[in-house]
Amino acid sequence: MIVKELTIPYNLLMDVALLRRLRPTHPKLAMIEEDLTRRKVGYRGEQNLLYHLGFLPPQNQKIFFGLRLPFEDKTFQIDTLILTPSFILIIEVKNYSGILLFEKHSDQLIRIYQNKEETFPNPIFQVQRHHILFDRFLKHYNIPNVPIEHIVIISHSTTQIKTASDNLHIYEKVLHSEKIISKMAELHQRHKQNKLKNHHLQKVSQLLLEQHKPEVPNSNEIFDIYKDEIIKGVCCPVCRAFKMVRKHGKWVCSRCHTSSKEVHKQAILDYLLLIEPSITNKSCQDFLDLSNPSLVHRLLSSMKLPSKGNDGGKKYLLPTPAYFQEQYGF
Ligand SMILES: [Zn+2]
Repeated sequence: MIVKELTIPYNLLMDVALLRRLRPTHPKLAMIEEDLTRRKVGYRGEQNLLYHLGFLPPQNQKIFFGLRLPFEDKTFQIDTLILTPSFILIIEVKNYSGILLFEKHSDQLIRIYQNKEETFPNPIFQVQRHHILFDRFLKHYNIPNVPIEHIVIISHSTTQIKTASDNLHIYEKVLHSEKIISKMAELHQRHKQNKLKNHHLQKVSQLLLEQHKPEVPNSNEIFDIYKDEIIKGVCCPVCRAFKMVRKHGKWVCSRCHTSSKEVHKQAILDYLLLIEPSITNKSCQDFLDLSNPSLVHRLLSSMKLPSKGNDGGKKYLLPTPAYFQEQYGF
């Protein structure tokens, strides 16, 4: 069963919002577009793994996507984790296209794609580091000793994975998404003894959900973009101009005359992704260029956002990625 669902990453949503709200000549647009493409490919790669995990026999296993666990002075991110009574599998998902060559002597990963050769950090080392940290994490929380395994999943089935003939153990650790079924069967064969009783499984599951620290989007940290570079106002869904004004209970574009009742929602979500992860009535008035607090109150409360505080001090908070998925249908 899936305990923690795969959701669209905040950073992908942030990129989409930034592309909408930076001036068309902003020097970072190309960089953000590239980042968005990379994140979309990454998200599709994880969706692809999710699809294949759907074919696993219904055994006693718990699946977690996108865990971010703070531990010691680090926060480590595990793309996918499968918890079973006899072992735990840590999966790192990579979305490389082309030919991947795992060099035996240098232990480097060389990618050959479109006649270009590039060297990447070896993802096996990355997942090994997560393995070590996760092992220490479990010991710290007094979880009984349970074997931990790690693999790297290459999400594109057309990507070639190559290595020298005396380095074939690489294929034990690096595999395509569709091989996850046979890999799980092999691991169940290797680890037959149940180390975690039902109440332990429950305890680990709860621990992971409690310790998970969701990523908060921060455009300044990632792209060095300041809040005053973000265009305020409501964006026209047709001509993309920030010329929507409130008239007779709806938004009307003063450039192309498109009208909409809902378009402020996107503006408020953009604020939560790009300016700060909470919004007050006052800051919403300023961002939407409205001066009527009771109208802004109605607009904000109709969105059913999570909130804290009451009356004048009420803050509406950045909703979960699942909320965005419903709004935008990603
Ligand atoms: Zn318009």
